[in-house]
Amino acid sequence: MPNNPEKIVIIGSGPAGWTAAIYAARANLDPLVFPGRAVSKDLVPGGQLMLTTDVENYPGFPEGVMGPQMMELFFKQAMRFGTRVVTDDGIKSNDDVQHGLFTPFQNVASVDLSKRPFHVVGDNGFEVDAHAVVIATGAKANWLGLENETRLAQSGGGVSACAVCDGALPMFRDKVLAVVGGGDSAVEEANYLTKFAGKVYMIHRRDELRASKIMQDRALNNEKIEILWNKTVIDVLGDDVITGVKLQDTQTNEESELEVGGLFMAIGHTPITGFLDGQLETDDAGYVKLKDPYRSTTEIEGVFVAGDVADHVYRQAITAAGMGCKAAIDAERWLAEQGVE
Ligand code: NAP
Repeated sequence: MPNNPEKIVIIGSGPAGWTAAIYAARANLDPLVFPGRAVSKDLVPGGQLMLTTDVENYPGFPEGVMGPQMMELFFKQAMRFGTRVVTDDGIKSNDDVQHGLFTPFQNVASVDLSKRPFHVVGDNGFEVDAHAVVIATGAKANWLGLENETRLAQSGGGVSACAVCDGALPMFRDKVLAVVGGGDSAVEEANYLTKFAGKVYMIHRRDELRASKIMQDRALNNEKIEILWNKTVIDVLGDDVITGVKLQDTQTNEESELEVGGLFMAIGHTPITGFLDGQLETDDAGYVKLKDPYRSTTEIEGVFVAGDVADHVYRQAITAAGMGCKAAIDAERWLAEQGVE
């Protein structure tokens, strides 16, 4: 069992988690981060950005930066100021990073937020107590789960789950693009893509949109958008770069092919909150509820939240990083009030 409680434990390692760690480390709080499992053994964990190619809208990178590279920079910056990380081989610090001593990073399996200090359990047996906890586990974009979809999304072959992040890339300029989904995000993304694309298809599995009326009107009145009703994508075509999709009609089962130069998934997100086991209140869509919309506080004193796990509106690296900063500052002030310095 753990002995001395940590001052602050940060769960998650996207822009929110690493930014919270940078601020907490610089405030001498010796943050301990459960970064989660990396998508591959050569990479640091970093959330959704590990699945993104060029990031061109994060200030400070005038030439753009690859998502995984940006997360490695966040990680190194957090480590340089004294952040520690939980790996399968215990706690590692910046010295270990410098010497390349790396075993896989640990995820969180469960937390007990019912009493203070809080208790955090890793998915490989590591346990720790903490005076303050920052939850920054993010939200996963939903995907169709098709093999070629995953392959081309990971290789930057023109399949993405974020039009705002990727839509302006040169590879999509003046192309025929497709957005999958019929909700507000799908309409928003389709509209956004019409700034760059020659034409945008919305592929929706039903014969009516889920999107709000005002958003529906936006799609229906945009000459560059054509909605393909009652269709699902059953395969993504193309070797290195997407060339099209195979569709199936949901009413007749008839199959067809559509040539596209880019495919954007907008079929919702799933916030990563399973490990909380209902201990924090969530909204109808499963996002953690903030106690005060301008802060990072939750209904449990000492538990702070940052990034996409509590934000279904903006979902950007820059907004997540901003929330991570708020969470660290809120935690620092709260810890000082508790006499934990
Ligand atoms: P959403 O409302 O849950 O819509 C998801 C869409 O994806 C639905 O049309 C759904 O089809 C479709 N879908 C889900 N799984 C699918 C699958 N396996 N295959 C094919 N299609 C699938 O998600 P969202 O659009 O991301 O919106 C999330 C929340 O954010 C909503 O509350 C929304 O109002 C809000 N939001 C608001 C704005 C805005 O107001 N500007 C912008 C973005 C998001 P069905 O309709 O058949 O279920």
